[in-house]
Amino acid sequence: MTALILHGGAGARRERNYDAEVMHMRQVVEAMKARLDAGDSALDVAVAAVTMLEDSGLYVAGKGASPNLAGAYELDASLMDGSTKRAGSVAALQGFRNPVVAARAVMDRTPHVMLVGEGAALFAHEQGLEPIADEAAWYTGAGQGEDNHPPGTLSHGTVGACVLDSQGRLAAATSTAGVFGKMPGRVGDTPIPAAGTWADGHAATSCTGQGEYFIRVAAAAQVAWRVAAGQTLAAATQAVIDEIGGMGGDGGMIALDAAGNIACPFNSQGMKRAWLTSAGDIGVEVFGR
Ligand code: ASP
Repeated sequence: MTALILHGGAGARRERNYDAEVMHMRQVVEAMKARLDAGDSALDVAVAAVTMLEDSGLYVAGKGASPNLAGAYELDASLMDGSTKRAGSVAALQGFRNPVVAARAVMDRTPHVMLVGEGAALFAHEQGLEPIADEAAWYTGAGQGEDNHPPGTLSHGTVGACVLDSQGRLAAATSTAGVFGKMPGRVGDTPIPAAGTWADGHAATSCTGQGEYFIRVAAAAQVAWRVAAGQTLAAATQAVIDEIGGMGGDGGMIALDAAGNIACPFNSQGMKRAWLTSAGDIGVEVFGR
């Protein structure tokens, strides 16, 4: 049995058209289904899915990033391997094409979990990761048109993936340029294991929304802990989104449990998302719950 779910952010606005994103998310799920069918690991598939989402330029992550208030592109990403509880992360990384690949390298090739800023960029350079030669030409600013809220208040186009592989392993990965109008150095939930990303033996979760709220409730890890305590995945994820909503926060999450159940609650207008069920069915949605 295999399953996966991915998201392209909880900032979807009803007045915008998402046909390109819907088509792209379907392509990503189909490509990842082929990899899972070929026996690839949940971790490899989560990284491959997020890399495709980053490279598309359609979401506010990777190529689709928007700059911070100082005009700099500071990107965050993390991943977690549920079967080993290993994690890797980069925050405020500048100048590299795929932050999720940098996060994977931190996990695989350093004794650390998280590298930030200049240190993360130095490490990415040493690892030979692909640099961005001309930032102005590279980034597409995919979230423009969703940018009609006060700076820092709107969640938008983070991407993420949760995967269950044929050996029963779970993994999650998440990547973002953060919220619009963010201050230089601002880091949200995305690169923080337990907040924006989590995978263990019970559940894998990737969050999107106003990261400041997700950090304060350990959103991604809380889902797995609730599942471990006996809650269904649907109840666990809804409880965490309700807690965030009760604090005034906006966003959503995707999650997958070890039995292949998927859940994707959100309290924002929409959340771009697509999935492969354990029965082999593919779906894509932006607004309907
Ligand atoms: N959660 C991300 C952050 O706070 C933003 C998003 O999901 O759109 O950086």
